[in-house]
Amino acid sequence: KSGFVTLIGRPNVGKSTLMNHIIGQKIAITSKKPQTTRNRIQTVYTDPERGQIVFLDTPGIHKAKNKLGEYMVNVAESTLKDVDVVLWLVEPTNFIGAGERHIAAQLQKVTVPVILVINKIDTVKREEVLEFIDTYRKIYDFAEIIPASALRGENRDVVIDMIFKYL
Ligand code: GDP
Ligand code: MG
Repeated sequence: KSGFVTLIGRPNVGKSTLMNHIIGQKIAITSKKPQTTRNRIQTVYTDPERGQIVFLDTPGIHKAKNKLGEYMVNVAESTLKDVDVVLWLVEPTNFIGAGERHIAAQLQKVTVPVILVINKIDTVKREEVLEFIDTYRKIYDFAEIIPASALRGENRDVVIDMIFKYL
């Protein structure tokens, strides 16, 4: 199996941490190359048995900090249609705002599975995580919702397993 995955989410939610740990835990082919005019970065995770996952990082989100809507339109028109799975990372600090609703709306156009990763669960109580899951479930029909800690490695394997499940 092989396929493309895009990692979306607000700055600082842990996208790079998750990706670095995924790549780091099994030394694979890593490549960083500008792919399009938007400077998409792609990193390849190789599992000898299961196949390859190409992660598309979209650095534009950092520049578009206060223009999440604009960014998402671009993403919706470019990255989202080129991928097999969408990974949306959030952190359980603030609840759903306009930015999240906009992302959810853009994702309605997507036909591929969207996996929600609730990262940084090491920073909150279990009940808060459950509450978070319930809230997010109402705004989008996620293929999977995975509570995780990219930093501590919690459920990192589950994220990989679920990606392969949908490839
Ligand atoms: P990005 O902007 O989405 O790529 O976020 P980064 O990967 O750069 O992470 C932003 C900050 O969150 C860094 O200080 C990370 O160490 C921290 N961070 C990432 N994942 C976790 C996590 O699971 N738990 C905690 N406590 N901190 C995390
Ligand atoms: Mg980053």
